[in-house]
Amino acid sequence: MGDQTTVIHGHEYFDEKYGSFIVPIYQTAIFEQIIRETGERRVSDRGVDLKYSREENPTVRHLEKVLTKLEGGEDSLCFSSGMAAISTLFIGLLKKGDEVVLSKEAYGTTIQLAQELSKFGVEAKLAYPRAEDIIEAISSKTKLVFVEAMTNPTLKVIDIKHLAEHCRDEGVTLVVDNTFVTPVIYKPLNDGAKIVIHSLTKYLAGHNDVIAGAMISSTEIINELWDWRRKLGCITAPFDAYLVLRGLKTLALRVKRHSENAMVVAEFLEDDPRVKEVLYPGLPSSEYHEVAKSLFRDGLYGGVVSFKVKGGFKEALRVFRSVKLIRPSPSLGGPESLMTVPVLSIAAKMPKEIREELGITDNLIRLSVGLEDVDDIIEDLDRSLQSIQ
Ligand SMILES: *Cc1c(COP(=O)(O)O)cnc(C)c1O
Repeated sequence: MGDQTTVIHGHEYFDEKYGSFIVPIYQTAIFEQIIRETGERRVSDRGVDLKYSREENPTVRHLEKVLTKLEGGEDSLCFSSGMAAISTLFIGLLKKGDEVVLSKEAYGTTIQLAQELSKFGVEAKLAYPRAEDIIEAISSKTKLVFVEAMTNPTLKVIDIKHLAEHCRDEGVTLVVDNTFVTPVIYKPLNDGAKIVIHSLTKYLAGHNDVIAGAMISSTEIINELWDWRRKLGCITAPFDAYLVLRGLKTLALRVKRHSENAMVVAEFLEDDPRVKEVLYPGLPSSEYHEVAKSLFRDGLYGGVVSFKVKGGFKEALRVFRSVKLIRPSPSLGGPESLMTVPVLSIAAKMPKEIREELGITDNLIRLSVGLEDVDDIIEDLDRSLQSIQ
């Protein structure tokens, strides 16, 4: 089944009584625990009691069905946010004395959380986002390796396939946060990753109106972490799960349009004399183009484009303050084009030496290219760049 069919039909919901096939919002905290006629327990399809919505809820469960198929896993769990998925992963799978190896350019809050696990005796090791450097950081204590398929904000693409082979040989669990790339473009589980994480808040829900997260993996890992989700109390709310299911129905269409718009924007910026450098793996000039091409599908490279304006922070800030159609906002993945200056937002807490090593300079701007008509996005960029001419 193709992805665009999966996101529409993959939920497995059908109401025999009414003939409805749109997943409803089971806005309920509780269920009758037994089937009165037989006295049997009421269980969900994963074999757990359906009795209380902190544990299991049908709207959430139908969303999990779609995500499992979309990423090619065995099962999945949905959470109240991407960070709730990541917290549950760390708390559930790591114990005192373990190490987690992360890319230095992972999502800032992920790095902060991993580093604060030191109070439980877990050590976080940061490595440059390149398969070789991450492999080098793995030791006998490493339990998890956590990377993003494409880094934020400089859009480096890690050779997941190569990294996964090594992790398998070492018996280390490879976790890939696939938020930026999306399963429409790349499915890390097919290349040997063991767990995929999503901030559903971004492309998967896709409308900038809901916070949610997910984890897709093997039945064994999901069952183990199901119990941690229950204990931590961070399942998705039914209404939010409904919004994600609804947003997901256009995922493949949206990702294609985001990627096409991003490519046009990247080409425009690359030719612009006010721009010093464009970071986008879809451009043949990008040092990550070859690895991206080998991993990603259908010539799609995602909807985020980063670029460095000529000058420094002052110039970046001027452009940032000049946008009109594009919103100055630090998220990504929705219909509205959004701009952010990483040193002011996502990289604000990052030490200066690491920023320099990763190329997160003061003049860097990150753009989440939306679904608007691309000519209008370019007109807004062109006008904003006039502020530094
Ligand atoms: C946004 C984001 C997260 C965190 O997700 P929330 O839904 O905001 O908790 C994690 N990883 C990446 C790559 C993100 O972009």
